Amino acid sequence: MKNLPIQFVRKFVQYGFLAMIALIGVQFTLFVNQLEEGILPTITRPPGIEGFLPISSLISFKYWLVTGIFNPIHPSGLVIFLVILATAILLKRGFCSWVCPFGLLTEYLNRLHRFIFRKDIRMPRWLDYPLRSLKYLLLFFFIWAIIIKMNARDLDYFIYSPYNMVADIKMLLFFKDISAFAFWVLVALLVLSILIRNFWCRYLCPYGALLGGLSFISIFKIHRNEGTCTQCQQCTRTCPVDIKVHKTTGVLSDECHACLKCVAVCPEPNTLYISAAERSGALQPALYALVICLLFIGGSVIGRLTGHWQTSISNAEYSFHVAQLDTPFYRHNRGQVPVYNKDAWMLMMQRIKKNQKPWRKGQRLKD
Ligand code: SF4
Ligand code: SF4
Repeated sequence: MKNLPIQFVRKFVQYGFLAMIALIGVQFTLFVNQLEEGILPTITRPPGIEGFLPISSLISFKYWLVTGIFNPIHPSGLVIFLVILATAILLKRGFCSWVCPFGLLTEYLNRLHRFIFRKDIRMPRWLDYPLRSLKYLLLFFFIWAIIIKMNARDLDYFIYSPYNMVADIKMLLFFKDISAFAFWVLVALLVLSILIRNFWCRYLCPYGALLGGLSFISIFKIHRNEGTCTQCQQCTRTCPVDIKVHKTTGVLSDECHACLKCVAVCPEPNTLYISAAERSGALQPALYALVICLLFIGGSVIGRLTGHWQTSISNAEYSFHVAQLDTPFYRHNRGQVPVYNKDAWMLMMQRIKKNQKPWRKGQRLKD
């Protein structure tokens, strides 16, 4: 009975976020379809799509720290990024197992792994540790390239570059017109994730590395009461990331996703719980769920109220950008500010004023 509510609550939250992300995805796809058709969009671009631009958000984060300016190109991306960082500082890597759709997918792939092999195959430690460091290497690369190497001018150029302005659209088109190479890389990742439990989250996800690093200072963590623990080890056997819960009084590990599965299976009352300190009151799972949801809802409300949610890019500008997606500016980040073709812009605005399509399909500008 105790098992059901905790994991039920977590699944409820996970599927709630999945539904919201799916709605954002559908709305954004319809928005881009209209742009691709050469129609001035009637569908609103969902700001939440910027949650899928973590590199752009990291750049926005540094830009904000250095200049104090909350950039208007992808403001909601930065808001979501800050909220995710806050979840790690407060609630361990709860983002991974309560919010992230890839975390949910990983859970199903782990089930498939168990179904195929009839048990959980654990990676030997001598291989597990070096592989786990891969995601930190990726994270350090981004920190080196963005936080250390980019100065305010570089950040400015990137943020206002055409490449960054349409980064979300390019991301969608990447999946819509996926290349053979990218397709097979995704298939390889999927197969590896079935063969090796938590392959993406544990070994490759740089976001997971960032949250794992921050989670060392997390206020809330799993605590075990040694006095009432019977050493049955059910918690350790249940833990999807192989933490030896029965040996610790407080789970410090960067791999702890705060899934609360260990808490759910512990047969001894008040023995395993998530709390701010060893002897402080336990945070009930429903309250944990509420806090994590409120962080996201609160972030978006504050973003809206302070004018840091909607992009400053107008639909006419988006239309203009999409008409030129095949030009070099939009293919690579060249660290250049856009040099717009003024005649083309004027022509497009005249067409919009006459209620005509901004540009004709098939007449996209090329090199
Ligand atoms: S089972 Fe417990 S220790 Fe393991 S990841 Fe989940 S919350 Fe953390
Ligand atoms: S499941 Fe509970 S009682 Fe059993 S080892 Fe873990 S903390 Fe101790």
